[in-house]
Amino acid sequence: MKYIITVIRILFLALFIFLILKGKMMLWLALFGVSLIVALVFGRVYCGYICPMNTVMIPVEGLSKKLRLQKDQSPKWLRSGIFPWFALAGSIIFMVLTQKLLDLRIPILMIWLAVSVLVTLRYKPSVFHNLICPFGALLKVFGRSPIFSEKVNKQGCIGCKLCTKVCPSNAIEVKKEDKKSEIKTSLCLQCTNCQQVCPKNTIHYSKQR
Ligand code: SF4
Ligand code: SF4
Repeated sequence: MKYIITVIRILFLALFIFLILKGKMMLWLALFGVSLIVALVFGRVYCGYICPMNTVMIPVEGLSKKLRLQKDQSPKWLRSGIFPWFALAGSIIFMVLTQKLLDLRIPILMIWLAVSVLVTLRYKPSVFHNLICPFGALLKVFGRSPIFSEKVNKQGCIGCKLCTKVCPSNAIEVKKEDKKSEIKTSLCLQCTNCQQVCPKNTIHYSKQR
């Protein structure tokens, strides 16, 4: 499954680069728009499989760990969680103004791609996913309670926390009360990392309600 997911990510990254080079960024933004509706049913699959930032951040995180650059703590000024909304509003205003006033089509997605790389060189991927990404802000809302999502079968969970260590967005945690894992769906990128490492095979993509 891991390899299939990697191939899907690379194919979407190639499509993203192709569209940007052809000056068709609006097509990608249209795909993002569709992914918001998809998130209502299937969760944040855009983030886990389609997003070029996530795809690029995976090897960058590996490099950051190898070079021992990665910090455990997130920057204090980002912790309120408001920044992604400012980033979203700022991106839209910037795109509209540069197009209307200067007749320029700034590839805003490339700017965010560069930001995601720089941030992930220093911080865990969850910092970009949860505290910076303007697209993630919207997907958090649309993917809050999808019909299908990764889910822990609590009966099988032994609280080993292996899943929490591989989650790129801090979406899964072992609760103090019952020592069982639980996934916060709005943060879950549906990447299946947790599912792949669980020794009890107790995490599955399934119907939520
Ligand atoms: S890896 Fe599996 S068994 Fe371990 S805490 Fe996570 S869900 Fe529970
Ligand atoms: S590791 Fe599991 S909980 Fe975390 S984002 Fe991936 S699928 Fe969701």
